[in-house]
Amino acid sequence: MPRGMFLRSSPSASNIADPDGQLRLDRYHALHSIPHAKPTPLEDFVRYGQWFQQQAVPDVDRRTVSRLVANARGFHVRLQDGEEFHARRVVVATGISPFARRPPQFAGLPAPLVSHSFDHADLRRFAGQRVAVVGGGQSALESAALLHEGGAEVEVIARAPGTYFIPDWPQTPLVRAARRLLSPIVRPPFDIMGPRFVSWLIAWPRLFRRSPRALQDFLTARAVRPAGASWLTPRLASVPITAGRTIAAAIPTGSQLRLRLSDGTERLVDHLLLATGYRVDATRYAFLAPTLLQALRTRDGYPELDVGFESSVPGLHFLGTPAARSFGPLCRFVVGTRYMARALTRYVTHLDGNGRARHG
Ligand SMILES: Cc1cc2nc3c(=O)[nH]c(=O)nc-3n(C[C@H](O)[C@H](O)[C@H](O)COP(=O)(O)OP(=O)(O)OC[C@H]3O[C@@H](n4cnc5c(N)ncnc54)[C@H](O)[C@@H]3O)c2cc1C
Repeated sequence: MPRGMFLRSSPSASNIADPDGQLRLDRYHALHSIPHAKPTPLEDFVRYGQWFQQQAVPDVDRRTVSRLVANARGFHVRLQDGEEFHARRVVVATGISPFARRPPQFAGLPAPLVSHSFDHADLRRFAGQRVAVVGGGQSALESAALLHEGGAEVEVIARAPGTYFIPDWPQTPLVRAARRLLSPIVRPPFDIMGPRFVSWLIAWPRLFRRSPRALQDFLTARAVRPAGASWLTPRLASVPITAGRTIAAAIPTGSQLRLRLSDGTERLVDHLLLATGYRVDATRYAFLAPTLLQALRTRDGYPELDVGFESSVPGLHFLGTPAARSFGPLCRFVVGTRYMARALTRYVTHLDGNGRARHG
């Protein structure tokens, strides 16, 4: 996430889970006298994450895993500096970095002209330039706001017929009182971005895993539909959003890019920013040995996971977004850490010395 962004998830849905609930975001704020902010600024969340890590797991080894090979006793792990060791079980929780989705039509274009939103830690380098942002989700809309505020001339181009902003509840005293009263009944156990009934249904990942494919697809589409947070609306008031259009052609012209849109109009831009999201594709894990990849059963690119987030390779588990095809969209968000960490721990600690389930 580039500098200056905010979390779209609410502070109450941005707690990294710990067993006793002692390392919540609000407790971090209270202990460090940091005023409560909504939305949560990225920098604040990163500091919270570092504090969480120091409290919960101070002995993190920061080296990169460069190779993982399955063998008869488990796994052979190689680190980037050449050190090797054996592990009986491996949990892959490496995020979405390898999965940035770059539409193939832009593949051959020079890097100075086209980039993915994932590539940027700071969008202020585009000050004074003309930038077209492709996409209609939070990433596209917030990138456009940051570019605009950083002095770029920006336009958003989205293929959906319109952009959707998640509405805020009106903050009248009556609405506040009604919400307080009804909250214990209607508030889902995990408050995610989609509508309330969707949040309720995806709050039980084991149920999601067993539900019909059509229901899974519907819930996923509703929970992660492209949408901007309501607080972006005023920041985008003077940013043109061209909806219902795609880019039919992108042709380098000197140091610029000529874009031809599906409606026949043209734009000359200095840069094209692809805020086109992420698509999980297990074959893109560079550290998984080819033999291991062959044994890994996937669906739509996602590893197929069983109870305990275990893949078709015994002892190999996946957490986070790659688990979302099996256990639902909850796994894509920080709020999912509560379910994932507990389910994994329960599963692993209930195995006997030979890796077999102790309690059936
Ligand atoms: C723009 C954007 C905005 C988002 N906003 C929100 C939000 O508001 N709320 C929300 O809940 N979620 C949000 N998300 C989703 C967010 O990415 C996840 O919720 C969260 O970061 C997932 O955590 P993770 O631990 O699975 O992955 P990450 O946080 O990406 O952590 C993966 C870790 O694995 C390490 N790693 C990778 N490869 C290796 C390797 N080979 N060897 C060793 N280590 C490795 C990385 O260095 C990293 O430390 C957002 C995502 C994006 C892209």
